[in-house]
Amino acid sequence: MNVLNAELNLNDFWSTVRQARARVLFLDYDGTLAPFKTDRRKAIPYPGIRTLLNNIQRQAHTRLVMVSGRWAEEVSPLLGLDRPPEIWGCHGWERLWPDGLGEMGPMSSQALRGLEMAAAQLREINFSPEQADLYWEKKPASVAVHFRAMPPETIQQMEDQVRPHWETLCEKHSLAVKSFDGGMELVVPTINKSRAVATVLKEMREGAERLNIFPFQIAAAYLGDDLTDEDGFLELNRDKAAAAQQDVTRNAGISTLSVLVGEKARESSADVHIRPPREVLEFLESWLKHTQ
Ligand SMILES: [Mg+2]
Repeated sequence: MNVLNAELNLNDFWSTVRQARARVLFLDYDGTLAPFKTDRRKAIPYPGIRTLLNNIQRQAHTRLVMVSGRWAEEVSPLLGLDRPPEIWGCHGWERLWPDGLGEMGPMSSQALRGLEMAAAQLREINFSPEQADLYWEKKPASVAVHFRAMPPETIQQMEDQVRPHWETLCEKHSLAVKSFDGGMELVVPTINKSRAVATVLKEMREGAERLNIFPFQIAAAYLGDDLTDEDGFLELNRDKAAAAQQDVTRNAGISTLSVLVGEKARESSADVHIRPPREVLEFLESWLKHTQ
């Protein structure tokens, strides 16, 4: 990431956004559009985000795609838009269409069994039963432990018991342990947020081919704060590199921007870094301005 070039990159990007024939905005939820809350069920967007996203959906000729680690069905009620967007949940494993139809990714029975064993252990440990919903959750393609909701002494206790068990499960069931901001998660390593980016961009390219209008420029941005968003950033970068080698008179060209959101910049594959919520709001305002 080259923070010094941030302004330059952004100006170049906005000019291609203005000219693009198709646009897509990939957005992570927690830490990007909404502040972290001890109770994750209460994490609603920063003030101003809803209005901007509603306007972008209405006026900006933009496909809005949420890419979250949460269950897909949890995102829409928190986001609270007039029209639900397309949502990829569980780090790219689930896809929920705006009309409510959903699709799940592939999963081996071996992985599924491993996740069930992880959930069984957490049920057995039974830390603070009245807080169980806040401390951990079994999702369709992962098991997550949320440290943010726990008192500090519980975090260590929980980790000491859970991590060794998870390490065994990783070996026997081809799973992986991932850290995220506020917890750790046992996941199926073959699935990550890049799946959402790759699938949507492929569909947009195929749409361009069907219309048979070339050159067909696509503008795509991905905003995310977490380590799990790096897979999305990398996919966007890969796509840009591949598109640069293609003949744009016959293929859809693409202009992309990966945006790391966070108080502090960190090592990242993103093109630029912005701070929430002010610079996220400014980014979305600019998107609206350049696309109307
Ligand atoms: Mg996040």
